Amino acid sequence: MTDRTSLDVHLVSRPDGEPTPANFRVVESAVREPGEGDVVVANRFISVDPYMRGRMRDRKSYVPPFQLNETMQGGAVGEVVESNSPDLPVGTNVVHGLGWRQYAVLPAAQTQPVAEADVPLSANLGVLGMTGQTAYVGLFTIAEMKEGDTVFVSGAAGAVGSVVAQMARNRGARAVIGSAGSAEKVAFLTEELGVDAAFNYRDGSPTDLLADAAPNGIDVYFDNVGGDHLEAAIHALRPFGRVALCGMIAQYNATDPVPGPANLMFAVGKRLRMQGFIVSDHNDIRPAFLREAGQWLAEGKLRHDETVVEGIENAPQAFIDMLAGANTGKMVVSVSP
Ligand code: NDP
Repeated sequence: MTDRTSLDVHLVSRPDGEPTPANFRVVESAVREPGEGDVVVANRFISVDPYMRGRMRDRKSYVPPFQLNETMQGGAVGEVVESNSPDLPVGTNVVHGLGWRQYAVLPAAQTQPVAEADVPLSANLGVLGMTGQTAYVGLFTIAEMKEGDTVFVSGAAGAVGSVVAQMARNRGARAVIGSAGSAEKVAFLTEELGVDAAFNYRDGSPTDLLADAAPNGIDVYFDNVGGDHLEAAIHALRPFGRVALCGMIAQYNATDPVPGPANLMFAVGKRLRMQGFIVSDHNDIRPAFLREAGQWLAEGKLRHDETVVEGIENAPQAFIDMLAGANTGKMVVSVSP
């Protein structure tokens, strides 16, 4: 019998434009009894991700919307503290999809083991988790980055972007160019991550800033931002360039329809290829990703950068702040009960 209680985060109203703390409520609930084959997981870290903004809208998408007055869901990593499954003994650390709460009760079969690499637990949400896999799939499977390519990645100081920048360098990019929203992040990219050139997109037009950073053009664009960044990349791409459409965070809080890139016609003459993707369609690549990323980590060629916010009660603000750029690397919330 569990007499545990959990602090859970509910969505109580749908944001109109930028989310505010009033859209969320932290609620104490009794942790339900685990059924046959279930485990109780004490979450240690939960993930706050841009895609969750889409789930706050009441519309059909590739993931269903969050329901009002219910606990939201999302990536989490934690420790099994009670088990009705012989496969998952108490004390095992697992990754699963019931974040935004301190305790999760779910079938053992719906959890994944943590990575074997010698990394902090939270890295299972970051460089070795969905974040790292997104970077790997987008760069290598979708954009088919090859040795000698010049690669531009937007949102480059964020979770996915910072991993893309490092992976491109590790696979022999001729040059890696990144954009981010502050001088500190630009310094992080050039001084810490070894990016060849970086710009602060608030300093001018991304088209001009990218043209300065990559005077000979680019071969691959990894798009995390959309909007004026995608337009800048279309200008800079060389013939037969490839674009991995990963996300378009510049428009997630938009309340009106957003215009497309004004120069899309260039995609015809330049024979560009642009492809969207969703990481969860590519779980077949996970073993290869873990092998190569694990090796890079061991060799010191891949870093795990994160911004950690303490306390489940601060998770809504962490999400709001992540959308506004408060994070460098992966934003996670430490939620230990
Ligand atoms: P990040 O860690 O990159 O956090 C979001 C960042 O976006 C902020 O730190 C901020 O950095 C930047 N940002 C916010 N608003 C703007 C804007 N208007 N213009 C430019 N930059 C902005 O998040 P993730 O790495 O988790 O996600 C990055 C992208 O990848 C998102 O678009 C997300 O939706 C997408 N994604 C897609 C997946 C897929 O399967 N297709 C899976 C996972 C993520 P700054 O200070 O630089 O502005």
